[in-house]
Amino acid sequence: MSFDSHPDFAQHLDETDSLRSFRDRFHHPKTKGDAPIYFVGNSLGLCPKSAASYVEAEMKAWADLAGGGHFKSDHGWYGYHEHFAGPLSRLVGAHPGEVVAMNSLTVNLHLMMVSFYQPTSGRNVVYMEEGAFPSDSYAVSSQVHYHGYDPVEQVKTFKPRAGEHLLHTEDILETIEKEGESIALILLGQVNYLTGQAFEIEKIVRAAHHKGCMVGLDLAHGAGNLQLELHRWGVDFAVWCSYKYLNSGPGSVAGCFVHDRHGDNFKLARFAGWWGHDKTKRFLMESGFSPMTGAEGWQVSNPPILPLACLRASLEIFDEAGGMSALVQKQRLLTGYLDFLLSDLPPDFAEILTPRDAAFRGCQISLRVKKDPEGLVKRLEAQGVFCDFRRPGIIRAAPTPLYNGFKQVATFAQVLKSHAQSNL
Ligand SMILES: *Cc1c(COP(=O)(O)O)cnc(C)c1O
Repeated sequence: MSFDSHPDFAQHLDETDSLRSFRDRFHHPKTKGDAPIYFVGNSLGLCPKSAASYVEAEMKAWADLAGGGHFKSDHGWYGYHEHFAGPLSRLVGAHPGEVVAMNSLTVNLHLMMVSFYQPTSGRNVVYMEEGAFPSDSYAVSSQVHYHGYDPVEQVKTFKPRAGEHLLHTEDILETIEKEGESIALILLGQVNYLTGQAFEIEKIVRAAHHKGCMVGLDLAHGAGNLQLELHRWGVDFAVWCSYKYLNSGPGSVAGCFVHDRHGDNFKLARFAGWWGHDKTKRFLMESGFSPMTGAEGWQVSNPPILPLACLRASLEIFDEAGGMSALVQKQRLLTGYLDFLLSDLPPDFAEILTPRDAAFRGCQISLRVKKDPEGLVKRLEAQGVFCDFRRPGIIRAAPTPLYNGFKQVATFAQVLKSHAQSNL
């Protein structure tokens, strides 16, 4: 598609957007000015209007049935989490038995590393991307330490070339080729949270497995953003939260993927709990842990139903919208349009950090603003634009396709351009 900066062009794209009506399925935050423009769905997604009634239904079941709600309510709590196998597997490109909704992201990362980071004297290194999300670094370092190794020695990072800020796949592959025998685990944010760079997972997995390394993904910025094919790519495990692109509310229940090749490997170390135990015998309260096959076997506790009700409301919207293929189609246009409108920003004012090639990014575009970034943030706020600001001057804007349109992108670019003009 060739883009056009004329305002009629945004209107034309909005009129032909088949997902346009989904904007009204969400509550938008209150602002002083015009209609809000919410570009922080990569941090906390908007609230689906249907979520409250889903929660209300479980509150009522609790009030009316109390403990009977486990089996006798409309959506029996005992098997409530099982409803997510279908929608989550479609979302991340997995078989239903490979995914489960449980815990929170970092907790799941720990549980996965218990099974998939098994260091030996010769193979004990964890490789991450430089500039990984801090929680992931903390989790990895603490696991390395827990196994009696030194995070300073055993945690290594794939680095950008001098003077650059993105990673080259060929550099990652070269490191794996050279150091693979010492690497126990490669853990990547499939989309880096800061730069918005999406990595070439399939190639990385192939190279890593060739050298006998495990590969895990943090999909905090991938789930609900990009088309994922976890099973086909052969990723060993993946974890994600559901409150960013997945719009299921602050701190809601996370997701976890374990590849089928590990699902029935009961010799793997794991931290067990009764919810991972054979569900046909769970309430017999017998001794001796007998895990279920698949991702469900990694569950520890019975899950929190109220946040799961929000996740349920949210995932129904993803399916209704036609799933990730429909969303990614719109996302490429939306983010492509934003990239186009920002491409003539003066380089002295701002620089786009995110890859310009649509194959290497999702919704998000990150900008390093060199002139008065704080003033820009104030100006954006005054116009009802929500976007994320990281000191000293990185602005992350994610025009998520479920509840944003082309007019919002045009307005955002307009505010940036007028700020650029008054600062040069
Ligand atoms: C948001 C985010 C997290 C958050 O972890 P929680 O355990 O949900 O608090 C972790 N990793 C990445 C890459 C993130 O973007």
